[in-house]
Amino acid sequence: MKIGVLALQGAFREHILKLQALGVQASEVRLPEHLQGLDGLIIPGGESTTMGKLAESFGLLEPLKSFTRHQPAWGTCAGLILLANRAVRQKKGGQPLIGGLDITVDRNFFGRQVDSFEADLDVPALAEVAQPEDPEGPFHAIFIRAPAVVEVGPNVQVLTRLPGQGPIVAVREGHLLGTAFHPELSNDLRFHRFFLRMVRER
Ligand code: GLN
Repeated sequence: MKIGVLALQGAFREHILKLQALGVQASEVRLPEHLQGLDGLIIPGGESTTMGKLAESFGLLEPLKSFTRHQPAWGTCAGLILLANRAVRQKKGGQPLIGGLDITVDRNFFGRQVDSFEADLDVPALAEVAQPEDPEGPFHAIFIRAPAVVEVGPNVQVLTRLPGQGPIVAVREGHLLGTAFHPELSNDLRFHRFFLRMVRER
């Protein structure tokens, strides 16, 4: 199995380390030809406007759209924004999106006053992939200027919300996965295992 990580900007190295820790071949994607032969793609956190514009200028936006139409992809934080069909509070003039997930994200849901925070999330679906060496119970999630999912289409599975019926912060729709937080920064491999199982089942 070979997984690519979009490496234009942002936290791509951390995803590569997590994939390697799971014994999976991981490669950096910067050019359209780097998508060839991949079984899945991770779009990391960073700055979604910058990443979208870089993708456009490297001629990667259309190849990314074609790839994610049929093959498994996971967007974390800025990556979730890029995989959303709709984003609110975009920069003036909008921003290029890859799309695919039938959701609306609010880019700036938590505002400036909480730049980053951590939360323990109850994610029942992770029990399906957990190994004996994994942490048990909630997933300790790190949010950095995070978006939230404010609308979901009928085929979108809500994987978790912030505690107390808070906003939706992880979703799956078929072969696409999106998390508003950064599992590559947590000391927990369960979300990476979950994505790899989606890739295997494809
Ligand atoms: N809010 C950022 C954006 O709009 C995402 C932040 C992140 O990926 N940590 O791109």
